[in-house]
Amino acid sequence: MSVRKVRLAFDGTVIAEVPETAVSELPGILSRSEAAARVMAGLTRDERASILFAASRKFLESKEELARTVALESGKPIREARAEVERAAATLWFSGEEAHRLSGEEIPMDAAAGGKGRFASTIRQPLGVIAAITPFNFPLNLSMHKVGPAIAAGNAILHKPASATPLCALLAARILGDCGLPKDALQVLVGPGGELGEALVTAPNIRMITFTGSAAVGLGLQSKAGMKRVTLELGNNGAVLVLEDADLDLAVSACVAGGYAHSGQTCISVQRIYVARAIHRQFTDRLIEQTRKLKIANPLEEDCDISSLISEDEAQRVQSWIGEAVREGASLETGGGRNLATLQPTVLTNVQRISRLHKDEVFGPVVGINAFDYLDEAIVLANDSRYGLQAGVFTNDLKAAWRCAREIEAGSVLINDVSNFRVDQMPYGGIKESGTGKEGPRYAIEEMTELKLISWRLL
Ligand code: NAP
Repeated sequence: MSVRKVRLAFDGTVIAEVPETAVSELPGILSRSEAAARVMAGLTRDERASILFAASRKFLESKEELARTVALESGKPIREARAEVERAAATLWFSGEEAHRLSGEEIPMDAAAGGKGRFASTIRQPLGVIAAITPFNFPLNLSMHKVGPAIAAGNAILHKPASATPLCALLAARILGDCGLPKDALQVLVGPGGELGEALVTAPNIRMITFTGSAAVGLGLQSKAGMKRVTLELGNNGAVLVLEDADLDLAVSACVAGGYAHSGQTCISVQRIYVARAIHRQFTDRLIEQTRKLKIANPLEEDCDISSLISEDEAQRVQSWIGEAVREGASLETGGGRNLATLQPTVLTNVQRISRLHKDEVFGPVVGINAFDYLDEAIVLANDSRYGLQAGVFTNDLKAAWRCAREIEAGSVLINDVSNFRVDQMPYGGIKESGTGKEGPRYAIEEMTELKLISWRLL
């Protein structure tokens, strides 16, 4: 049996060793999962909800243990890790509430001449076995965004977490088991995405792949999934517009929080900031001042603001993108330095449209601030992206805000918030290469159930 070493990327310490699942074990795992799916489908809505509510409470009781695990395996500062645990508990709670609400509707059959004498309604039935593949950056909450709705809908789940961060997934499965989740209804499989992940995508009798991760991997697996239902929650290169009338204090502090939370390793991180030319310098100076106050430290230190990226390779990649952008014409205003896997929070101005920092997802603690002269131009810049997950706009001008909301191409447009604002019950999912399908328990449950029509001929 091979064993996976899990490390704290900040200093490379090994924090745990976890047995990996071999691809050859999959047939046995799958047949146990299919049996568990039949048990899950037989539970009442209230039984499923009760498991989710109990697990949500248990998450909060175990908050410190879970938060330490999130911080150690993902490198996220401990205060952000605690917030992630609270959000994961909320995600399970919202999933429980949706289990209670899960229902179909009456279809007005006799609205068509041919439907006379028929009564019909829809019901939502579980799919069976769902495979969930998750990334490293929110190892607990993003996992619960798949596990919670799948349980609420009455499915069994095979969960493959990111290889760098398997510990939260294993802890969560233990808690859900302690809270009454039937045996084998949630099995966590640890192993490399290129082998174990691919095997899940092509395995028979899995009805759905729910994936969160990079566009490159997501697009690749979609083409291999055949008739399986696939939802993809992929990347972004978050745009934020700051109009001339914006509340600057609010916009600056929100962009600092939104650009550097978890060292910019969130899919909706602020990356491209477009500021009205009249306030561009003032905005930039204030943002730099706040950025320089962020404390770089071990993620377990209470006052840590910035810790490492997930690996030294990733930190090197982000640093090379910064160098490339500067060679292509951008100005480095602050940051750019690196120590092993930790990169200083970085601000650039005048980032060119040919640069990867404009075109691609940087997934690191880097923001680029460019000036614009007209709102039309700002909207074109925001939309000049192959991604479209979330975008933010700071203004108090109602007409301008409404135009941005309508014309920015994204799954969500957030007025007076940055691109990475999210609460866990809202519909969440992108357009273009940011993905397909929605999360948020109510919306994920729709993806994870089959809508069946039952019609009665009564005359
Ligand atoms: P990633 O490299 O795409 O990995 C995501 C998951 O896919 C991991 O579990 C990985 O396993 C697995 N995987 C890798 N290759 C695979 C393959 N060929 N077939 C099946 N599974 C495979 O992403 P990441 O670096 O962990 O996460 C960062 C990315 O996730 C960013 O692009 C970010 O924007 C995106 N993200 C999106 C959202 C959203 O809601 N839209 C949320 C968070 C993150 P291994 O770890 O074993 O390689």
